[in-house]
Amino acid sequence: MSHCSVCGHERNQGEIQCPECGHFYSKIAEIIAEQEAQEEMQTFRGRCKRILNSGDIKSGLLDELKQMQEELTPKGLFALFVIFVFVFALVASVL
Ligand SMILES: [Zn+2]
Repeated sequence: MSHCSVCGHERNQGEIQCPECGHFYSKIAEIIAEQEAQEEMQTFRGRCKRILNSGDIKSGLLDELKQMQEELTPKGLFALFVIFVFVFALVASVL
């Protein structure tokens, strides 16, 4: 049985992170976890989580909207445009 190099907590096989102090046992695991966290931040779920965790939902929501506006690229605008056209076509075909 090996132990965490930071706090000495018992390390179970297969674990990539110390449950006691949060230390990652390998650099690769740390990088992957960081990337996952970053990816999640870009998703809708991540945004919702951050808004809920911010305590003040209203100001959290405003912050996210502001950030989304800054992140809006031509590609993102094009995607919105495609969605808009699709919805419009759908509505037009029903009427
Ligand atoms: Zn530890």
